[in-house]
Amino acid sequence: MTRKEALGGLVVLPALAAALVAGTTAIAEAKGTKAQFKYQNKPNGKQQCSGCTLFIPGKTATAAGACKVVAGEISPHGWCTAFGAK
Ligand code: SF4
Repeated sequence: MTRKEALGGLVVLPALAAALVAGTTAIAEAKGTKAQFKYQNKPNGKQQCSGCTLFIPGKTATAAGACKVVAGEISPHGWCTAFGAK
């Protein structure tokens, strides 16, 4: 291996490592759309987001929060097909 080839490898490896880390982060943060999970702004019977293990509550009990799998603002009174009872 020439010196030039060795130095080239030193530049490529950190760039490759950074790309792998970025890809892993993107996968970890990927969420589905409301349409994919048939999200609705109202409960489905007795099931609603505030009673779901995937719900991330807002600042108050009635404020919109977030969801671990569905992107966007999520109502505590909403529901989707990924519902999982607490
Ligand atoms: S998975 Fe569905 S039901 Fe559960 S919090 Fe997220 S949007 Fe609401």
